[in-house]
Amino acid sequence: MSAFSVPKPPIAIDTNGDRLDVSAIVPIYNEIESLPHLVAAIAAALQTAGLRYEIICVDDGSTDGSPEWLKQQAKLRSDLRAVLLRRNYGQTPAMAAGFKHARGKAIVTLDGDLQNDPADIPMLLAKLEEGYDLVSGWRKNRQDAKLTRILPSKMANWIIGRVTEVELHDYGCSLKAYRAELAADMNLYGELHRFLPALAYIEGARITELPVRHHPRRFGQSKYGLGRTFRVLMDLLTIWFMKKFLTRPMHVFGLLGLGSMAVGGSLGIYLTALKLLFGQSIGDRPLLSLAVLLLVTGVQLFCFGLLAELLMRTYHESQDRPIYRVREVAEPEETVKN
Ligand code: UDP
Ligand code: MG
Repeated sequence: MSAFSVPKPPIAIDTNGDRLDVSAIVPIYNEIESLPHLVAAIAAALQTAGLRYEIICVDDGSTDGSPEWLKQQAKLRSDLRAVLLRRNYGQTPAMAAGFKHARGKAIVTLDGDLQNDPADIPMLLAKLEEGYDLVSGWRKNRQDAKLTRILPSKMANWIIGRVTEVELHDYGCSLKAYRAELAADMNLYGELHRFLPALAYIEGARITELPVRHHPRRFGQSKYGLGRTFRVLMDLLTIWFMKKFLTRPMHVFGLLGLGSMAVGGSLGIYLTALKLLFGQSIGDRPLLSLAVLLLVTGVQLFCFGLLAELLMRTYHESQDRPIYRVREVAEPEETVKN
């Protein structure tokens, strides 16, 4: 039986208003050869586990016929939804689009190239049930090029671990399971999908990891080269800043600004004293330039901190984003009944 003629799966979309158990989200960029196998494998894994599910394939502007195939299949299968982006935005926006359309109580993300194994999904979901908000896959036996992929990734993982304080072995693994509420709280930008555990940590999530299988790419080719190392580093800086100072930018910029002003001011006083008390000429001293530079920079940094505070407030208040996340509220039964 070819993968194209899989039997029609049971109704996946709820009719009585109940939510689905899980939405599987897959970003797709030119993966036409993998697609039939991929959809069949995800469906098989989730049906075997007896779950009510949907598969959301987000086409990220493919040019190899993937969107056409997805559209056609979405009409035939009740468990597949195709979200087609207008152009190629990148993996992170594709995943964000998937999150937006997901209707399941849990969300699972995986790659469209069959490198992740859909058969691992039920195991991740079971772990989620134990009380975690995010379960991240760990490609313990990774099947990629050693020198160009695994080594840079190992280094990146180490740095990310230090900077974000979320200790995972493998941030780059796309196979992850989330509680839907957590996914809804996270806003994705840049190439931040790699930092989802760190973002989740900022949102106060309980995070763990599980070893998962990993296969070599069978069809097509990787969409990334070494250039992404640099972009990952920039994203890392953003994350570090967000984690530390998102709700209190003045603590950084204000402190730096005051420090700079204090040093510049002291130098200024010293030079003024030399001039007024000892009659020395100070006009050609490099120290004078330094004092002025530090004073001006200090004032700038201080004002920048104030602006950042204002921006941060607008960010939180305009979107109704509280600066905290409530896990749950326990109340006496009576108050609910009355
Ligand atoms: N992908 C995407 N948009 C892009 C690049 C990649 O949606 O611009 C998808 C791609 O189809 C795959 C996943 O993101 O499903 C991971 O890409 P890839 O396998 O090339 O990355 P690698 O496994 O080599 O890190
Ligand atoms: Mg891949």
